[in-house]
Amino acid sequence: MFEAPESPYLVPFDGSFSVADATTTAVTDGHRHKGKHRKNATEKLNQLQRVLAAGDRHAVLLVFQAMDAAGKDSTIRAVMQGVDPSGCQVFSFKKPSSLELDHDFLWRTTCRLPERGRIGIFNRSQYEEVLVVRVHPQILASQKLPRELSLENVWNERLQSIREQEEHLARNGTVILKFWLNVSKDEQKRRFLARLDNPAKNWKYEPRDVVERRHWDDYMLAYEDALNATSRPWAPWYAIPADDKSYMRARVANTIIDTLESIGLKYPEPSADDRQEFAESRAELEGDAKR
Ligand code: ATP
Ligand code: MG
Repeated sequence: MFEAPESPYLVPFDGSFSVADATTTAVTDGHRHKGKHRKNATEKLNQLQRVLAAGDRHAVLLVFQAMDAAGKDSTIRAVMQGVDPSGCQVFSFKKPSSLELDHDFLWRTTCRLPERGRIGIFNRSQYEEVLVVRVHPQILASQKLPRELSLENVWNERLQSIREQEEHLARNGTVILKFWLNVSKDEQKRRFLARLDNPAKNWKYEPRDVVERRHWDDYMLAYEDALNATSRPWAPWYAIPADDKSYMRARVANTIIDTLESIGLKYPEPSADDRQEFAESRAELEGDAKR
């Protein structure tokens, strides 16, 4: 299993992460340069994806979670631009359907995990089950749960299920990176107001988002617990400052590149049998040309 590369935004694995101490603006001490878009970040990611596909051993799962207007969609768009569309997939998870509610809470995301050789992106994810559902526990009533669980236990049980599934996936070749795009409450307000003020952005304005904003502190508690319970070396969380969008996108891209470079992806080497077959094919093809 891979080890997460160093980053000032890596959520520690010992449960000591605190939302209050996590910055929503770029860290300036010597790490600022990492926020610069590598000139060739897009090309680099494209190359890494091709080797990932050729090797067909690892899958890459990128999970994005954030408060509304933090920039999940635009980050996914910016980071994945230039990557071969047939080698990646994006799923956006909204309120579960009735079919989804007929299954356990990990089913719908499990069905959409990337296959070996592919990059899969979750725009929202199974983590909603310990975030929005925790903030609005009345949602549990629609989930047809078979037994009464105290509200104290339900979140810990779910976090344990998520953690164990991620460990299982990592052992079996999925490289998991999770990004919490950490926007400040003030910046969210500015972005909501921009959606109201700018006719070109009106379509993005969702009155429900302002209702969710009232629960900001509850969300922060839920994020803190979830990140502490599930940031592990094989499935790290990164709390990426999101108030500056271009810095955020560059940091996300750089984290993905650093990780893929660290796992030593290689084009597969032909075996002795393959070489023998190549020689036979070559002889046949060259013979063809002479005929
Ligand atoms: P955008 O607003 O940019 O289109 P979005 O991800 O906010 O993207 P919406 O359709 O606005 O999409 O919201 C989806 C909603 O579904 C969110 O409020 C989210 O919390 C909710 N949701 C996602 N998963 C679950 C879940 N498992 N249970 C209940 N609600 C969920
Ligand atoms: Mg929304």
